[in-house]
Amino acid sequence: MALCGRSIVCLTAPRGNVARLPLAFAVACARAVGTLSRRLGKGGGTSAPGRVLLGVRPGAVGELAARLPDGTVMVSATNGKTTTSRLLGSCITAKGWSTVANSAGANLFFGVATALLDPGIISGTTTFGVFEVDEFALPSVVDQVAPRVLLLMNVFRDQLDRYGELESILDSWAQMISRLPTTTTLVLNADDPAIAALDDGRHPVVWFGLDDPSVASAQMAHAADSTRCRRCAHDLGYAWSTVGHMGEWACPQCGAHRPSRDVSATRVELLGVGAVRLEMRTPQGSISTQVALPGLHNAYNVVAATAAALALGVEPEIIGAALAQADAAFGRAERVEIDGKSLVLLLAKNPAGANVTIQTVQLDPAPLHLLVSLNDRTADGRDVSWIWDVDYEMLLPRIAHLTVTGDRAYELALRFVYAGFPRERIQIELGAEAALDSALDALEGDGVLYVLPTYTAMLELRSILVNRGALRAYWEHV
Ligand SMILES: [Zn+2]
Repeated sequence: MALCGRSIVCLTAPRGNVARLPLAFAVACARAVGTLSRRLGKGGGTSAPGRVLLGVRPGAVGELAARLPDGTVMVSATNGKTTTSRLLGSCITAKGWSTVANSAGANLFFGVATALLDPGIISGTTTFGVFEVDEFALPSVVDQVAPRVLLLMNVFRDQLDRYGELESILDSWAQMISRLPTTTTLVLNADDPAIAALDDGRHPVVWFGLDDPSVASAQMAHAADSTRCRRCAHDLGYAWSTVGHMGEWACPQCGAHRPSRDVSATRVELLGVGAVRLEMRTPQGSISTQVALPGLHNAYNVVAATAAALALGVEPEIIGAALAQADAAFGRAERVEIDGKSLVLLLAKNPAGANVTIQTVQLDPAPLHLLVSLNDRTADGRDVSWIWDVDYEMLLPRIAHLTVTGDRAYELALRFVYAGFPRERIQIELGAEAALDSALDALEGDGVLYVLPTYTAMLELRSILVNRGALRAYWEHV
């Protein structure tokens, strides 16, 4: 965009003296960039103001976070961090704390800095921060802002060319935790062996997990990533698995095993594509709730949010009610009504995420209308070979109509052909607008169109839906 943070810094900051701008003035400058950006139609300004802030006041992130008297919680994961942060934010708001959050999904360092420009922090009315943070950005954010609670949910193989090996994320997280003050409580997923290995014995830990084998599988999912013991590298054994490599695991060689859960879903009911109902056991008593989000992966998001909320001192009865009232984060099981028809946006950006999405849409007993969109832009990952690890085969008997689109529409079509879907039944549309129209036209009666996009494809489709008046822009989505 033409209005870049760097040019504003040059206009406002005395050369060589940038760190000395008073905090309140630095915040005002950075906020002005966000306002201008929106007025110029350049989007929500979710990162540029943060860049300006740090340009004129490099330590501002730590300084602003220190003004939150109730502290902060940070949430990271490959999958589910946006939804979980939203669920957690609902619990904390219900407790009565005034929160700031990077709810627009701007989860890199500058996105967090932008969120901290909340005017309530300077004025003293905002008391708590809820931040979802990208896996790679997490150590740099945590080094500046030691959170009161750090929620780590899962690590799956994501965009290969961006992240490289899973090991590098896990190593950087282990080093980050070793630097964290012991006043930070870790909330860790006991079902993910890679996350469980992050317990360094120095920090208070709240463990969470699922304990309802009736929703689990006896076999490891096809796209499981992390099945070696983190301690001795031996293959792990599983009594049952839930999502990817998560489940009831143990190492037959060294004896490492799933930690006992402090907060556990003892009963999980998948209520079609509309909701999930959970009974949870916690040290503070049981919690029953029904959340308007579908699928087993969302059961994890609910338990994770509950564990973090309890660690922050939110009462169980507040949590149950707040979760039941939470709605979907943008693009994550978001239901949209357009021209008298319904569509559901289900972000599918990596093999594990796409596979749980595939399991979720199968909960709808009706013939499936699908729009699948594959982009290969920077935020999606340029390497799209991950689609060959997605179990599209599971969908084939159920598909009534399939439209594929995106920058790599032809590769996606090829994937479905290799899966065994007839080429002549695949509608290939290169433009997102045409693809949406085509898929909606094919929809019959009161059916639902399930849209499975990668990240930038989701933003593109959402933008079309905003222009057609079916949705609000993402920066208005609170
Ligand atoms: Zn082992």
